[in-house]
Amino acid sequence: MKNKKLKCSFCGRDKSEALVLIAGIEGHICDVCIEQAYEIVSDEVASKAEGEGGHEFNISEDIKPVDIKKYLDQYVIGQTEAKKYLSVAVYNHYKRLKFNKVDDVEIQKSNIMFIGETGTGKTLLAKTIANFLQVPFTIVDATVFTEAGYVGEDVESMLSRLLQACDFNVEAAQKGIVYIDEIDKIARKNDNPSITRDVSGEGVQQAMLKMLEGTVVNVPPQGGRKHPEQSMIKVDTNDILFICGGAFDGIEKLIAKRYNTQVIGFSTDKSEQIDGENLLQYVSHQDIKSFGLIPELIGRIPVLTYLEPLDKETLINILTEPKNALLKQYSRLFEMEGIRLSFTKDSMLYIANKALDYKLGARGLRSICEAILTEAMFELPSHSDIKEFEVDLAYAKEKVDKSKLEKLKAA
Ligand code: ADP
Repeated sequence: MKNKKLKCSFCGRDKSEALVLIAGIEGHICDVCIEQAYEIVSDEVASKAEGEGGHEFNISEDIKPVDIKKYLDQYVIGQTEAKKYLSVAVYNHYKRLKFNKVDDVEIQKSNIMFIGETGTGKTLLAKTIANFLQVPFTIVDATVFTEAGYVGEDVESMLSRLLQACDFNVEAAQKGIVYIDEIDKIARKNDNPSITRDVSGEGVQQAMLKMLEGTVVNVPPQGGRKHPEQSMIKVDTNDILFICGGAFDGIEKLIAKRYNTQVIGFSTDKSEQIDGENLLQYVSHQDIKSFGLIPELIGRIPVLTYLEPLDKETLINILTEPKNALLKQYSRLFEMEGIRLSFTKDSMLYIANKALDYKLGARGLRSICEAILTEAMFELPSHSDIKEFEVDLAYAKEKVDKSKLEKLKAA
């Protein structure tokens, strides 16, 4: 064969100039042309997906806030107030994306702040709404961030996580949801002497401002600054919804203080009776400012709502009601072994009380159920004759008393 004459049929590059030359039936193609062709095809696929609504929110025109709440109800027990706020915020966010481009009144983004004790459903709400919208979702912990240039992660890394969650589909990520947990831990440290910079507190809040508001951020694909050679990905955060959550330990005191001064200063109106048991319901932007979040940041998280502490009844409901409730999950596992699992009422009450003891919110329920059921899950698969298994109070108590959980508590 006349090998010397081989050329790329697309660009005419000689075989000697190409890294590879792949033969087809009629001619050849070189590595450079393959790369270019690949780019053209990828762009085409991406724009086609977009045209088909591939990166659009998965909600139809006639979905209303009430319907969003109904969806949340299937997975999250109680927390009516937070669900209403979230439903409206998401509904408006969606409308904003749809209509902002055609109008000259620019609607601002409705980033959301959840305040509530640990294990009350803040993350679950954020995760559930992302599922509803079928958009990329990621959870980040505000405590790992530091101001750029210091040991710790830059705030941009939260977008790297979002990108990772959708296989680096930038279009999709730009419509995603980021849940920033423990936002209260980056509160400004008031007693910080001015010679040391508050790089993990106020510094991080400053760094977040632009991103929360909406800007184009250069995101390192791997998250850190450790690979300076990697090329940055541009991500526009204008349509990314940020949901922040925190326990804000001690904020009740600030709320109480505000009410007291208000009562003395202005109103003696009896209709404004305050429920001292659950002060969190009165939380305002002013309180989170007193707690140590800077006004600029607060201004970029306009929707503020609270989650109620979970009581016994709610905890029992959480065990049994949600679509993927814990007890439903265990029942399914036992069913696979041909065993019908049941819990007596008083055993469920006992589990709820224990969860309250441990002060872990609903998060404690899982560890308690594990402690109760592990032995049964170990033994029963080897006993094909057993068709039913009932957890009663005595059994539950015995297992929990023997478990590591109790030892932890004792320590
Ligand atoms: P946090 O408020 O600390 O973010 P999470 O949302 O992570 O708490 O809740 C921890 C676990 O507890 C969740 O995985 C979920 O199973 C359960 N849970 C908490 N609150 C609720 C709730 N209101 N309804 C249903 N499950 C809940």
